[in-house]
Amino acid sequence: MSLHHSEYDVVIVGGRPAGSTLAARLGMAGLRVLMLERAQMPALPGASCPIIYASTMDMLDEIGADEGAYARGTPKIRRMVNAGEAIKGEIAIPMRNGRDYGYAIDRARFDFALWENALRYPTVEGRLGWSAADLILENGRVTGVIASAPGQPRQEIRSKVVVGADGRFSLVARKMGAAQRDEHTDFPTSIYYAYWKNAPPYDENGAAAVAWGDGTGFGFLMMDSADDTVVVAVEGQSEIIDPPPGQVDAWYEELIARYPITAERMRHAERITDVRGMKNIGNLYRQPGGSGWALVGDAYHQKDPLDGQGIYDAVFTAKALARELAAYFAGEQDWETTLRRYDSAARSETYPMYQSTLQRVQVSLYDSSPEWLKWAAANSFGRWLFEDRLIREQMGLMLTRQIAPRDAMSMPLVVGALLRGPLRDLSRFLDRQLET
Ligand SMILES: Cc1cc2nc3c(=O)[nH]c(=O)nc-3n(C[C@H](O)[C@H](O)[C@H](O)COP(=O)(O)OP(=O)(O)OC[C@H]3O[C@@H](n4cnc5c(N)ncnc54)[C@H](O)[C@@H]3O)c2cc1C
Repeated sequence: MSLHHSEYDVVIVGGRPAGSTLAARLGMAGLRVLMLERAQMPALPGASCPIIYASTMDMLDEIGADEGAYARGTPKIRRMVNAGEAIKGEIAIPMRNGRDYGYAIDRARFDFALWENALRYPTVEGRLGWSAADLILENGRVTGVIASAPGQPRQEIRSKVVVGADGRFSLVARKMGAAQRDEHTDFPTSIYYAYWKNAPPYDENGAAAVAWGDGTGFGFLMMDSADDTVVVAVEGQSEIIDPPPGQVDAWYEELIARYPITAERMRHAERITDVRGMKNIGNLYRQPGGSGWALVGDAYHQKDPLDGQGIYDAVFTAKALARELAAYFAGEQDWETTLRRYDSAARSETYPMYQSTLQRVQVSLYDSSPEWLKWAAANSFGRWLFEDRLIREQMGLMLTRQIAPRDAMSMPLVVGALLRGPLRDLSRFLDRQLET
């Protein structure tokens, strides 16, 4: 092993949304940073077929990331369509700081644009194709990483702090035995997806994120993405969404062909990526760090993608950690205070949404009510809620992080919607009677 004694303030393991936005913020504070990313970018991450909203883009503006680069060729999505069997309707994406749209981004392009943005800061360096193979520990404190790249001798890289921005299966968390908190395994879900070309638009009203479910434990999501592609994902209970080993592509295509909502749109389309996915998606927090190390993004907190909040959380936790690291390096606080304040800011922003997402997973994918109650929910009170304009507006505000989840479905709102619903049905009934 060659001994390569570089001195950095922070080495960041992983250079996607959490790692590269953290690096940019630390670069803005003048800290010496090295990002290590084992992939050769641009490249797709292991699994992710995401939508982002203005809530995330606001934070990308703060670090000077160029929307024209990270969303190049990507249509603006202004509505989320519920095309379910019983419940149909649309949620308009509400305005937030001049943006009333989201993007089903191409992660290869998005991640690489953020990586390049971080490198604009003179004190930030990045190495693609380099992995952190191990951590260097001295007297129980992390003081650097052992870095490796194909065909290169291993290197010791020293830093005052090592941050794991290395995703769900974080090496930093594993090596340091990071404790898990708030783990939920009661309602396991799995997801598979692929990108398609030459699919017709969903309708004549522009780009959309279209969700479909029939209350049987799984659902589809189709989103217009970069370069005229459409991503089609299927998510559901892990027991149902369980492709036979080695036959994922055939299993996925059979599912797409079986249901009219996907079969009709994809009939003449061509699948242009292999089918990727994730089994038994983790829902948990980890401890924020320890002596000389910290975790950020999915390495710190991961959850079901049903509400599409993972990238927001990754970029938010990076922002919260950067603020505390800047104060630490400025000598304004000790390391324990840095971790405590980071954890507190990151948790108070992410925890209510985490609980709300878990609840939605249970209700939409694990509803164990008797059939008659499910039917009643779908055909009466569930529909009354979704058809209610106020409720839909609140849902849009919640997904774009403009109101807290508890305010999206407050008791007065729900009661109001359940009173207005039957009245709407009655007025429709009377209209039909008058027509005949
Ligand atoms: C199917 C699916 C759909 C999703 N949909 C959405 C959505 O709609 N909206 C949304 O906001 N979020 C969504 N998410 C979540 C989102 O993808 C994650 O929250 C986000 O990618 C987390 O970013 P990150 O930077 O923390 O980690 P990652 O994106 O996982 O990046 C970690 C990086 O670390 C690198 N790395 C790992 N180990 C090492 C090592 N030892 N050395 C060097 N590099 C290393 C990896 O190569 C990787 O590039 C979805 C996730 C999945 C699985």
